[in-house]
Amino acid sequence: EQDGGEAKEIAQYLPWFPFKGIPRFYDIGGFLYEPAIFQKVVDIFVDRYREIGIDSVAGLDARGFILGPPIALALKKPFIMMRKKGKMPNTVSSDDYKTEYGSRSGLTVQRDKITKGQRVLIIDDLVATGGTLSSAISLVKMLEGIVVECACVVELKMFIDPPADSGLPSRSKLFKD
Ligand code: IMP
Repeated sequence: EQDGGEAKEIAQYLPWFPFKGIPRFYDIGGFLYEPAIFQKVVDIFVDRYREIGIDSVAGLDARGFILGPPIALALKKPFIMMRKKGKMPNTVSSDDYKTEYGSRSGLTVQRDKITKGQRVLIIDDLVATGGTLSSAISLVKMLEGIVVECACVVELKMFIDPPADSGLPSRSKLFKD
């Protein structure tokens, strides 16, 4: 929100790295290689969530594991991993879900890491359909935590409210539901 224009420019657009049917890929690898820019991105999140107040930072596998820890350390809050199934013991799992790239199996979190009323910030690199973030939100809710916000560096606006005949999932509808 606060500095979206600049953040979008620094996520490199890679037209030559398409997935099935998807003609582009946004890569945060460019700014990770530039300490001053990486620091600035982290500082934007830290300033916002120091003000809002959170109890923990949950990062999504895999690039939320890069962005989340420096934010958690700066705020002196716990970092929580949300991973694909089968990677950690003592977990709760969300249902399988759909993303920009098709179906994915649910995310998991260790059940002792989120407690009732805990104010959790969810971090990932990019939001497209919102399927991945919704899966993370459902994990926090299962454990009776509170999702303060979800924060990403890149937002693909075309998924917010695509035309009904486009066949694309609508993020605004997903979050409304
Ligand atoms: P969604 O679930 O459709 O919102 O897709 C977001 C998830 O897919 C995130 O975990 C992203 O890391 C990943 N993703 C989707 N598109 C891209 C992209 O262009 N670059 C990097 N990651 C992407």
